[in-house]
Amino acid sequence: MELSIDLPLDSAGFLRRECPHCEQQFKWHHGRTDTAPEDYLDPEIYFCPLCGQPAAPDTWWTPAQLELVEQHAAGAVHDMMGDVLADAFKRRRSSSLKFTVSKNERPEPPDPLTEPDDMEEIAPPCHPWEPIKVPETREAPFHCLACGAAFAV
Ligand SMILES: [Zn+2]
Ligand SMILES: [Zn+2]
Repeated sequence: MELSIDLPLDSAGFLRRECPHCEQQFKWHHGRTDTAPEDYLDPEIYFCPLCGQPAAPDTWWTPAQLELVEQHAAGAVHDMMGDVLADAFKRRRSSSLKFTVSKNERPEPPDPLTEPDDMEEIAPPCHPWEPIKVPETREAPFHCLACGAAFAV
C-alpha cells in the first residue's frame, strides 16, 4: 500500500519542520534551490538550525504533519479492509450473512494543512544555497542545516 501525501509549502517553497531534539520549529527549503552547485549532494544528515543537533532527514515531522499522515493511513486501511471483506463474502454465495461497507464509517479525509508565510528567511555563509526560515524572535547563533556550523545574521 502506498500513500502519497502532499505537505503544504509556504509561498516561498519552504516546508515547516520540527527538531526531534529541541522540539522547536523552523522551515527548510523543499528541494534544491537554484543557487546550489551542480555537484552538491543533499546532506544525509541535517542539523537543527536552532539547537545544532543532527538528525536523519525523515525525523523532522511536526505533530500536525504526523497527524495528517495517520489520518490518510486510517482512510486507506479502511478502504483496503472493505475490499478484502467484500471479496471474501462474494465467494460465499450461500452465506446468509450480509456485509456492507458503510460510507459513513470511513474516517473523514483530513483537512489539508495550510502553511502561513511566517518566520524570517536566513542563509548560512558556508552553505548559502541551503536557506532556512527561523522564528523572528529568535536570536543568533543559528546553525547551518547542511554542516551544523554556527553563524549569526
Ligand atoms: Zn533543535
Ligand atoms: Zn554549512
